[in-house]
Amino acid sequence: MSKKSELSALHLQIRACRQCAAAGYWIVEGAVVRGVHTAQVMTIGQAPGPTEAVVKRPFNAGSGKRLFQWLGEAGFEEGTFRATQYMTAVTKCYPGKGTGGGGDRVPSKEEQALCRPWLDQEIALVNPQLIIPIGRLAIGLFFDARLPLEQIIGRRRERDGRVIIPLPHPSGASTWHQKPANRARVKRAIRLIEKQRKRLGL
Ligand code: SF4
Repeated sequence: MSKKSELSALHLQIRACRQCAAAGYWIVEGAVVRGVHTAQVMTIGQAPGPTEAVVKRPFNAGSGKRLFQWLGEAGFEEGTFRATQYMTAVTKCYPGKGTGGGGDRVPSKEEQALCRPWLDQEIALVNPQLIIPIGRLAIGLFFDARLPLEQIIGRRRERDGRVIIPLPHPSGASTWHQKPANRARVKRAIRLIEKQRKRLGL
């Protein structure tokens, strides 16, 4: 089976997955997973929000605007990036509304564990050279989750031959972004991503 066919088969399996519903969590509508087998860059978010769950496109709502502004500063055009790279999440299904009744809640540890094998298979199959974990949950897969974002954003690390460059969650509501020192950290991360983009010839 070609890598392309293997990835299509994996996507079908992920979209058909109902493990969380079977485990008693919110009834899932089907997973959001997009990307091609030739991708060299993989973004990993937390989970689809309510908009993404409907349109089946990661980072489609407000936070996507800021994310693609950052990626644009690193030299990635949104349309090309979406068509040629890989965008996934720690959990693939919308986990339901947040405690305030809007947005989305953070997936539980059990949901994260149930979904983890899918992410591991995506990474193994696509074999991205650059992984961009976005937000605390995804960053915690690659960095010590106990560290504050201030000590992580603007850094890079390598694992299994891949470069990992984290970004904070781009939610406009976050006060983290308001602090000049944190904006400078994001700028450093963008420069690191840009450098890696050039190295990959993208
Ligand atoms: S979040 Fe992951 S494990 Fe849970 S139902 Fe969706 S695809 Fe399956």
